[in-house]
Amino acid sequence: MQKADGTMVSVEEAEKIILQQLKDYGSELIPFEQALGRVLAEDIKADRDLPPCNRVTMDGIGIRYAAFENGLRSFKVKAIIAAGDKAIDTELEDECVEIMTGASLPDSVDTIIRYEDLDIKNGIAIVTIENIKEGQNIHKKGKDKKQDDIVASANQFIDATIISMAASVGKKMLQVKKLPKVAIISTGDELVAVNEQPTPYQVRSSNNYTIKAALQQYAVQCDMLHIPDEPEITREKIKYCIEQYDVLLLSGGVSMGKFDYVPQVLEELKVMQLFHKVKQRPGKPFWFGAHSNGALVFAFPGNPVSTFLCLHRYFIPWLETSIQIPNPKSQIPKYAILENDVTFTAPMQYFMQVKICSNELGQLVAKPMEGNGSGDFANLLDSNAFMELPAEQSNFKKGEVYRVWPFKQII
Ligand code: AMP
Ligand code: MG
Repeated sequence: MQKADGTMVSVEEAEKIILQQLKDYGSELIPFEQALGRVLAEDIKADRDLPPCNRVTMDGIGIRYAAFENGLRSFKVKAIIAAGDKAIDTELEDECVEIMTGASLPDSVDTIIRYEDLDIKNGIAIVTIENIKEGQNIHKKGKDKKQDDIVASANQFIDATIISMAASVGKKMLQVKKLPKVAIISTGDELVAVNEQPTPYQVRSSNNYTIKAALQQYAVQCDMLHIPDEPEITREKIKYCIEQYDVLLLSGGVSMGKFDYVPQVLEELKVMQLFHKVKQRPGKPFWFGAHSNGALVFAFPGNPVSTFLCLHRYFIPWLETSIQIPNPKSQIPKYAILENDVTFTAPMQYFMQVKICSNELGQLVAKPMEGNGSGDFANLLDSNAFMELPAEQSNFKKGEVYRVWPFKQII
């Protein structure tokens, strides 16, 4: 569904065109300590039984249950065994070992009685309770997993529990899904660096940090660069990025302004335009295309709310689907109930900023937080989602349900 003729596409068409450009970047082997937030590309198996021995779960003594059942309540302490020690066996019925949590149980005993239920004096342990169970306080060898069992299966986000399991089974290197190499490119002569003091007609560049922060959640590596509104430099720098990166995320320079050189330069560099302009507000001038070397270019309009919306509505779903995150958050539609009547007459999809809360019936209710247009990025701090109001409608009534795109934790 190529739209090379410059006509505007609908939000649904734009989404479809982007999702036709999914990429598989393969996989790579990395140290497990660096794998947090990556997607596991192999099954992790137990290198031995878990636990690897009959593991004691309480500090106390180990006895043979049969001795207790035969009426013995007093046991001579044959040895003291700490966690990490090789097990020492008892030889006689009335012997016990003092043994600590985490230690390996000797074969000659089968039941642990905790210190709280004992009196130990002069090397003799006297059991002070009558009710014990055979085999108590022992975590049996192989009870959790057997050697070669899968302990973490491929295609899931690596979190702290998987890092912990990799450490436990000695899996120092993990095969993970490779991520695209991303260039984040800001454009515009009005932009200054964060550490500079802008004049009243300049702004500090923030879109590049917004994008970088969003990518960090997926552990995507990115480089940032800036391009002034100058066609030669724009051409030179974008050409370099197309050769060096898998994905270019630009902000600014794609509208109708005299100094918006990005679409023209992309065309000169043979990046095939797949659409330019989407029937949406904010973010209408969004440009998307692909180069024959595989590089994809998402060129967002520069207004911070436009960049933010396009990033969440289009780029994140593309990324999550490309790196095959299971049940990607962005692909599971979410809906909320509109709290007030809203009117929006332009024939385009309106992504209204809302604050979603849960009501007393357990429903998600969206309060409009319209702000002052796509330049009002301060408003993003007070809202937590965009509500997608369909282009075909102008009046949206309180109580109606629409799709939402949360960009923060809702509850
Ligand atoms: P443009 O899409 O290039 O016309 O940019 C529209 C407006 O977005 C500019 O006037 C800037 O105020 C703002 N803008 C563009 N790029 C950035 C950026 N990297 N960070 C913050 N604001 C930006
Ligand atoms: Mg600009």
